[in-house]
Amino acid sequence: MDIALIREEVLAQTAYPVVTTPYRIKLDANENPLAIPPQLREKFAALLATVELNRYPEAGSVALVSRFAKAFGVGSDQVLMGNGSDDLIQILALALARPGAGIMIPVPTFVMYRIIALNSGFRVAAVPLDKDFDLDLPAMLEQMATRPPALTFLAWPNNPTGNCFSRERIEAILEAASGIVVVDEAYFHFAKKTFLPDLGRYENLVIFRTLSKVGLAAMRIGLLVGSPALIHELNKVRLPYNLNSLSQTAAGFYLDEEEAFLKQADDIRLWGGELYSALEALPGIHPRPTEANFIFFSCDFDADRVYRKLMQRGILIRNMNAPGITKGFMRVTVGTREENREFVEALRDIIEK
Ligand code: PMP
Repeated sequence: MDIALIREEVLAQTAYPVVTTPYRIKLDANENPLAIPPQLREKFAALLATVELNRYPEAGSVALVSRFAKAFGVGSDQVLMGNGSDDLIQILALALARPGAGIMIPVPTFVMYRIIALNSGFRVAAVPLDKDFDLDLPAMLEQMATRPPALTFLAWPNNPTGNCFSRERIEAILEAASGIVVVDEAYFHFAKKTFLPDLGRYENLVIFRTLSKVGLAAMRIGLLVGSPALIHELNKVRLPYNLNSLSQTAAGFYLDEEEAFLKQADDIRLWGGELYSALEALPGIHPRPTEANFIFFSCDFDADRVYRKLMQRGILIRNMNAPGITKGFMRVTVGTREENREFVEALRDIIEK
């Protein structure tokens, strides 16, 4: 096969990085460090055992869409479910990509927006955040005026920086945008802030949620909330069985038992506060305030070396060190108290040597 048959934008990509080195403590992917609450495990297993694996899943996850719509206080015609948010990004991209269309993202942000946009043939306008890691509103407005993007992605709180961009700046973008603006609330269960009540005010507003950060990352359950007219079109692009039956069952189970999952999220927030204080107390380590389940921090040392040394001790975090705004930065997911303690001890030891 002639590899040149592959589109240029795909050839130019690098695949999503996956770490293959063995590790003991995994603090790199913003997952919930806890398994399903112990008192719920048997119930969950029994429920999964009832799933008819010989049948196709319910197309469009209709029953779940209606349950989540009720929980969000919106109509059933305003919700679409995805195989994780990644699937939702791809569905939007597939529906909107056309020659010359662009997406706008701040930098740094969640990497999949760029990867999927490039693979779909979008022009990508990447606008650096300001020095406080808030949106650079004048630069974004200028970009929107000169080459209006079909799609804008704003993670709220932002990954990897952990902060919520100021609401006024997001509103200004929503008001100025002719295209769709996605407010990705992947970390909602920690930040507890939402644009859901604003859906009525902005026709072009789309909100993402996911169950990945609150304990069900393996099940790949993402939610998109938007206007009925948009959902109608996106449903034509979505693969019929994009959410498998086990995932649909798990999502229903989440709704039945939400309180137990939210309790874990609250515990993680608490442990995150403790981790923040411990990092702040280390000389040369500068954590940024966070509203999510991870902490973005810079260090006055060689960040690549620190990352490697942590790895040698079996502790995996995310190295964000790159020239520019993320120079010297790393991101660590809040783990269990014990994992956080081990991480801080290892970090202290590494930077003292
Ligand atoms: N959005 C943001 C902002 C994220 O940080 C992540 C996970 N890193 C996702 C979406 C991905 O979520 P999902 O597992 O639902 O695909």
